[in-house]
Amino acid sequence: MPEPVLFNTLGRQLAPLDPVEPDLVRIYTCGPTVYNEVHIGNLRTFLFEDLLRRSLRHLGYRVVQVMNLTDVDDKTIQGAHRAGLSLADYTEPFIQSFWRDQDTLHMERPEHFPRATEHIPEIIELIARLIEREFAYESDGSVFFSIARDPDYGKLSGFDLAQVRRGERVANDEYGKDDVRDFALWKAVKPGEPAWDSPWGPGRPGWHVECSAMSMKYLGPTFDLHCGGVDLIFPHHENEIAQSESATGLPFVRHWVHSEHLIVDGQKMSKSLGNQHTLKDLLDRGYTARAVRYLFLSVHYRQKLNFTFESLEGAAGALRRVDEMRFRLAHAQEGGEPDARLAEAAGRLKADFTAALADDLNAAAALAALFVFVKEVNVAIEERRIGTGDRDRVAAALADADQVLDVLDPAAWPDAAAPADDDAAEDAVAEIERLVQARQDARKRRDFAEGDRIRDELAARGIVLEDTPQGTRWKRR
Ligand code: AMP
Ligand code: ZN
Repeated sequence: MPEPVLFNTLGRQLAPLDPVEPDLVRIYTCGPTVYNEVHIGNLRTFLFEDLLRRSLRHLGYRVVQVMNLTDVDDKTIQGAHRAGLSLADYTEPFIQSFWRDQDTLHMERPEHFPRATEHIPEIIELIARLIEREFAYESDGSVFFSIARDPDYGKLSGFDLAQVRRGERVANDEYGKDDVRDFALWKAVKPGEPAWDSPWGPGRPGWHVECSAMSMKYLGPTFDLHCGGVDLIFPHHENEIAQSESATGLPFVRHWVHSEHLIVDGQKMSKSLGNQHTLKDLLDRGYTARAVRYLFLSVHYRQKLNFTFESLEGAAGALRRVDEMRFRLAHAQEGGEPDARLAEAAGRLKADFTAALADDLNAAAALAALFVFVKEVNVAIEERRIGTGDRDRVAAALADADQVLDVLDPAAWPDAAAPADDDAAEDAVAEIERLVQARQDARKRRDFAEGDRIRDELAARGIVLEDTPQGTRWKRR
């Protein structure tokens, strides 16, 4: 298996994956803040993380992934307050809808799904340790991390602390800070807000410390990969490093991997522009989840994904090409010697696909390898080279790639190309092939009127013809 290389935001270069335990990769992925339904931008990041875990498994690693749910922070508290609900009642439907989206998009569930509200003791313990080690201080019932105590601060994002003047005061809710650059680990309760008891009085955790506490609880003080969208690099991940390394004295994470944002029609997604789509919006317009999955996988995770409906159409079209090949193969004549060219093509698919994923998760190149293979199979079908067992060999090669892609299983998808009834499908194919042959015979006789009539008849049945040097190909529109 090729050695995987991934871009490390820490150091800003491609670096070989170097897990603490050679065959096990421990991954922390910052999950959604559950104050509304996730949008397709969030889903792009979560799909990148699904690609990451599946690719690592494909490359022979075991994976333990944690994805937290941020179910207490400013936004969830404000939302619950406005809705007149408890925090738990307010966030639960958004958690459920996130899980539904995950299932719809065939994202594998992480091994652990911790909620911040269920880890308050661990969070308090971490904060207490930071106070004990003099990296944090209490002020009016809140606790702040003291950035001046951390000489490494800024190493992930390149953030220049000197740019922000020390001691500058800001009129916000964190008035008790010694230094404006400090950030809250614990926020003293305000009227009407949910609160938990702590050694510093009632309050709630800051967002950053939630992730440090939950990641180290499930993955240990030093783990392999930590991921999120690029907006999390600063301050969230910078702060996570500061808290975790100050508390343990150990390196926190070996490899930081961040995915670029999704934009819509070249613009940032925002409520005011009305371009903030959810998965449901796309499905309601008749697009399939697997087209969404395919589209998101087809753009490298370190490139901005410019979402347009045309690109989604393009993804659906690409999938139809694979479906058609599978449909034709299922109904092709099989017999005689296994085809050597087909075996070679399957071997090349496996090698190129795996190498592409190992190369900084280049799923676009992996998909290109898949389409080279699809073309080879189509040619083999046309040249009637499908030998005994070839059908199964092609299916196995596709299934292997689909362990990572998960876009091909027709049974699981509403727009499956293959008709439900196999006999009917075979009869339909036989009839189409008979007509295609009849048209060719007519053209040989130079009876072009008859040839065109048959072409129109096929078109009426949704079959389009393409004349190639190897003969006439047909496909479903
Ligand atoms: P949040 O719920 O805001 O904490 O975000 C959840 C995940 O979605 C984080 O990893 C963010 O970095 C990511 N994210 C937010 N907006 C976008 C976007 N437009 N494109 C891609 N990822 C995003
Ligand atoms: Zn986080």
